[in-house]
Amino acid sequence: MDQAIAALKKLLSEKEELAPVAAAKIDQITAQLKTSNTKPAFDPVERIKTGFAKFKTEKYATNPALYEELSKGQSPKFMVFACSDSRVCPSHVLDFQPGEAFVVRNVANMVPPFDKVKYAGVGAAVEYAVLHLKVEQIVVIGHSRCGGIKGLMTFPDEGPHTTDFIEDWVKLGLPAKSKVKAESSSSSVDDQCVTCEREAVNVSLANLLTYPFVRDGLVKKTLALKGGHYDFVNGSFELWGLDFGLSPTTSA
Ligand SMILES: [Zn+2]
Repeated sequence: MDQAIAALKKLLSEKEELAPVAAAKIDQITAQLKTSNTKPAFDPVERIKTGFAKFKTEKYATNPALYEELSKGQSPKFMVFACSDSRVCPSHVLDFQPGEAFVVRNVANMVPPFDKVKYAGVGAAVEYAVLHLKVEQIVVIGHSRCGGIKGLMTFPDEGPHTTDFIEDWVKLGLPAKSKVKAESSSSSVDDQCVTCEREAVNVSLANLLTYPFVRDGLVKKTLALKGGHYDFVNGSFELWGLDFGLSPTTSA
């Protein structure tokens, strides 16, 4: 920065007609220098402390009955699968209060098929939610501009992986990719991704049927499955049922 100012001053002394231009440039650089020096550094510990303090005064302390109830246990009606994407927190988007939703978040909101070895983490969550918490609804929510879905649509299907985990994980959605590629081959990659965000949710709903306790719940009608799609570009949310169709039952 100092070098840049020195160079401009030199230019200023050599070319008199440039004086106003160079002087303005020097002012601009000096102002930028001041701003960058005074901007406080991000303090993650402070951010967490103030975040919790705000929650405690505004939420926890103002609703003692709820937190007293939650101290005894939880009985959420919903199990929700959502993407890890920082923009799509379901508690935020759907206003779920503590105790309302048992949530699993992972890259591209995938539900893998029943597999005790490969997918024990997801299996444990589904088993706990369905058999012990007795949730009434499992909702799988996709979203706009999903990086995981874009990965699925753009990673080569064959050949060695270039990532340790990501490709293998998002390829759970390969049936959705194949469907989109077959039905929308002339569309742009971005448009294909938009379609695939919804189709991948349908693949996850189908995978949920491979869990025996999920099937039992559906047969006994104690459990229902729903697909959802949150679009933060247009500010809309779409919800659909187990018919695997894309016709929305509600749309806002
Ligand atoms: Zn995502």
